Amino acid sequence: MSKPIIVGNWKMNGLTADSADRVKQLLAGLTTSPAPGVEVVVCPPFTQLALLAPSLKGTPIALGAQDCHKDDKGAHTGDISAAMLADVGATHVILGHSERRRDYNEVDETVREKVLAATKAGLTPIVCIGETEDQRQSGETEDTLGWQIKGSLPDGFTGVVAYEPVWAIGTGLAATAEDIRTTVAFIRAELERQFGDAGKSLRILYGGSVDANNAASILDIENVAGALVGGASLKPDAFLSIIHAVP
Ligand code: PEP
Repeated sequence: MSKPIIVGNWKMNGLTADSADRVKQLLAGLTTSPAPGVEVVVCPPFTQLALLAPSLKGTPIALGAQDCHKDDKGAHTGDISAAMLADVGATHVILGHSERRRDYNEVDETVREKVLAATKAGLTPIVCIGETEDQRQSGETEDTLGWQIKGSLPDGFTGVVAYEPVWAIGTGLAATAEDIRTTVAFIRAELERQFGDAGKSLRILYGGSVDANNAASILDIENVAGALVGGASLKPDAFLSIIHAVP
């Protein structure tokens, strides 16, 4: 079974000096208090990947990106391919984040194509799925997740799935332990239905207002193999506490 994984999504925050300083603090924290049983990934903005890669090489922290294009190269102004990410030292990429689904109209098919591109480039895709508040209120959570799993994850998928209820992202309102337990059990069942035995070992993360206070209880839930962390990943002390909360 793979290690639990804690992923920091820095989104569009920080200039190079801020990010370099954050990396320094995280590395110092993991040197003082190592977490050998945990895979740790930070996902800075595109412009900082190449800059941060040398300081992360050979350390317990892996480098991830926040998106990639579905094509290897070509006339796509402003876009970045998975091969370009791998070329600068990234090993992971977040795909299908709800903010990209919202801001760029990314649909499951788009996400699936990006997953294929990422896998081809040797990156580990971290694929986000999750229901909106409206879908939750209308009792459509499981239908939504079922369609997202079916549409976003290609045959032979070997990456990581992040369950991120959209209403819990950046709101300070994490889902309750009971809701996470039930929903993640549903996701596990869907993964097994789609991928057979391989679906049993795919890692499922929870994301949505994870912080230093609630991490231990969330990470203890059956089938939760880690967390995708936004806001709290910008604060080194909080992110280190989350890493050390892995049981
Ligand atoms: C996210 O953006 O993936 C996320 C989970 O954000 P936050 O932790 O701030 O809710």
